[in-house]
Amino acid sequence: MKKPVTKNILSGIPAAPGIAIGKAYLYQKDKEYVEKEAIENTDAAVESLKEALEKSKKELKKIFGLAVDKMGDKRAGIFEAQMMILDDPVLIKNIVDRIQTEKLSPEYIVNDEISKYQKIMSESSEPYMKERSHDIEDIKNRIIRNLRKKKWVSRIESDVIVVTDVITPADTVLFTRVNVKGYVTNFGGLTSHAAIVARSLNIPAVVGVHDATENIKNGDILILDGIHGKVIINPDEDQLAEYKKRIEKLNELDTQLAKLKNEPAVTIDGKKILLQSNLDLIEELDFVVEHGSEGIGLVRTEQIFDVTNSFPDEEEQYEMYSKIAQKLYPEFVVFRTFDIGGDKYLPVDIKEPNPFLGWRGIRFLLDNINLLKTQLRAMLRASAFKNVKIMLPMISSIEEVRKTKEILDECKTGLEREGKQFDQNIELGIMIEVPSAAVLSKEFSDEVDFFSIGTNDLIQYILAVDRGNENVSEQYQEFHPAVVKALDYIIKEGKKGNISVSICGEMAADLLAVPLLIGLGLDALSVSASTLPRIKKTIRSIKFEDAKRLANQCLSLKTEKEIKEKVYAFYKTHFTDEIENLLEE
Ligand code: PEP
Ligand code: MG
Repeated sequence: MKKPVTKNILSGIPAAPGIAIGKAYLYQKDKEYVEKEAIENTDAAVESLKEALEKSKKELKKIFGLAVDKMGDKRAGIFEAQMMILDDPVLIKNIVDRIQTEKLSPEYIVNDEISKYQKIMSESSEPYMKERSHDIEDIKNRIIRNLRKKKWVSRIESDVIVVTDVITPADTVLFTRVNVKGYVTNFGGLTSHAAIVARSLNIPAVVGVHDATENIKNGDILILDGIHGKVIINPDEDQLAEYKKRIEKLNELDTQLAKLKNEPAVTIDGKKILLQSNLDLIEELDFVVEHGSEGIGLVRTEQIFDVTNSFPDEEEQYEMYSKIAQKLYPEFVVFRTFDIGGDKYLPVDIKEPNPFLGWRGIRFLLDNINLLKTQLRAMLRASAFKNVKIMLPMISSIEEVRKTKEILDECKTGLEREGKQFDQNIELGIMIEVPSAAVLSKEFSDEVDFFSIGTNDLIQYILAVDRGNENVSEQYQEFHPAVVKALDYIIKEGKKGNISVSICGEMAADLLAVPLLIGLGLDALSVSASTLPRIKKTIRSIKFEDAKRLANQCLSLKTEKEIKEKVYAFYKTHFTDEIENLLEE
């Protein structure tokens, strides 16, 4: 009889794909405990504070240098932000003043002052700010350690899977020196640095496991499945054999897929699909080109720039957009204007009770017209080679489109007057990601040149289910009949209105969903570059006629369960070998 296999399996959020097998290393950061301690010589205390700050800055500079090599400028910027805290004159002055007046140890005051910052951030309703509070903990411990003249010793062995509460960005970069094979963390979501960095560095990761450090012991053998978000502790022979097979298959699959690079994304019966990439990190640009992407269907401009401190000016934006457009030429690039707010950073000091229903995307931009104008001018200037399109996020009314068009026209007139080159016929499209836009697809198709369906948001808004809340993740259903019917309506109305309709939400990168999407009539998909080869393979393995039949059958079903079963059955009959192991639970 087979042993029950569920007992030694922990589940979390699959944060960076891939499978790793290795020894667990429980990483416990030395937390510096401080007590209230009176001192006499305040001058000496202030002096050692200054030394500790200098030392901490030097350490961070070193990590920053390493990070730039490993992760590129933008991600490494995290450490620059940490260094800035060490230079914050208000903070330093407060600490020095308090040491002098309260005559307490610098360790105690540093802990007390920096913890205040941390508390404000950890209580923020924005996930981004919450995540940053862990970075502050890192700096605080670093200064205190340096005040105590302790050394940070990395005792990590090579080739282990690190298991910990949370990982700071600094740890992550240092770990790459010893070839960490993967990460498991108790806390953190998809936007956590552990996840972002792991994805950038291509290291499998499962985050938000809650009780990982409780259940895993140092030296345990782990299987880390970053595709399904599973961690298997001390696997039995069957489990080990199964996962070794999966790793082999994944490697085989990657070799096979690499051969498709220059092949078109076309179904067996000849239906051509435009297969593009989404771009989130500028470092992905080479990867996009190497993987044979037919242009970029979505550039998340709020991600490629770090907008957390200030927005880039027109020149900086122009340089970035031109660089991307030239690299992809003659393929097209769709630049989306800043989609800030929601779960992304909002650069104003307000707390919204419902950020996803608040000041987000085009709403924020139309209330900050200069910001929008700067961005549109930069995009227009980058369109001189005629391979650029502009897209607007979070559109919910026709007025928003008309107002933006007026502003775009003003920008064109201004550039003309200045004798600057741009594409007079540049296409303007919108994300269809709010239910009102979906319902008004017919009307919107008269106003714009293209639609791109943002299923990440469309699903959350149609079903009233927060896309980032793990408590309701079961209700976040891409195969909900209301979602499938909405997609069908948007695609049909877009086509009737003679505009192109594509999809750039994560649903397009779900291997199970692709046949249904193509059957519904979508002829352009934009997915993250790393998933592109697998999606291409899927497209090349099906017939458009079969996909259409599948879509029609799904449209007549009334529950998510039935639709899921249908698409799964379709998949099983068409893909019997390699991709199967990615889907099986
Ligand atoms: C979407 O909502 O599907 C989308 C592509 O945009 P974002 O994930 O940036 O909100
Ligand atoms: Mg969206």
